[in-house]
Amino acid sequence: MSLFRAEGLVKRFGGLLATDHVSLAVEAGEIHALIGPNGAGKSTLVNLISGLLPADAGRIVLDGVELTALTPHARTRAGLARCFQISSVFRNDSVRDNLLLAVQAQAGSSFRCLSRRDAEHALQERAEALAQRTGLAEVLERNAGTLAHGLQKRLDLALALAARPRLLLLDEPMAGMGPEDSQQMVALIRGLAGETAILLIEHDMDAVFQLADRISVLVYGKVLTSGDAAHIKGHAEVQAVYLGT
Ligand code: ADP
Ligand code: MG
Repeated sequence: MSLFRAEGLVKRFGGLLATDHVSLAVEAGEIHALIGPNGAGKSTLVNLISGLLPADAGRIVLDGVELTALTPHARTRAGLARCFQISSVFRNDSVRDNLLLAVQAQAGSSFRCLSRRDAEHALQERAEALAQRTGLAEVLERNAGTLAHGLQKRLDLALALAARPRLLLLDEPMAGMGPEDSQQMVALIRGLAGETAILLIEHDMDAVFQLADRISVLVYGKVLTSGDAAHIKGHAEVQAVYLGT
């Protein structure tokens, strides 16, 4: 059984069918990329999955648990975390405080048996470990708003990881990055593969082909095809509508 399944997701905006009965599965440990031209419905699909938008029809299931009726917050608690295309950090707080807030939210009451000092220590350790993993250890005391774009995107990712997701939704994590930052983000995402499954929306096809175990192509709100990199590269219709070759 798949870790995650979206079944028949429908979203209408007035007369526009933004997602037209989209079904999609993500296996445990898999990086599944979602590609498609602008306006294809990729962000809408991620918003339906994360619960930011209500679906008109369809269901989503994570680890055998139906999440369709849950709030975004409850979905996060159930193991589904997302990074935003637009940065969601608190710009006037330090990187450390942003991370602390996120690990605190995840820990909830689980440290209640500890003394206040031990609990604070444990939270600091988790925050610092996250910073280490995402290459933010050197900038922990900086105000998040002063970080360069590439570092802000990494902080966004670190905040999503603080939730300890089973499935991580990434909507264009490389957007606006130069080649060096992009390559670092690719390495970072690849390093997450053992820890969480990933649904990755990305325009940078080099990154997609480097990272994805499977690729689904969305066109006009419908899944055109799904397969590995070789399948996508050899698919005439995908070449025509998307890769432009
Ligand atoms: P993608 O992320 O693949 O570029 P989107 O999911 O953002 O595509 O958009 C899919 C379609 O739905 C587009 O035609 C877009 O204009 C439309 N759309 C997206 N969000 C809204 C909204 N909140 N209200 C009305 N139309 C929307
Ligand atoms: Mg989009």
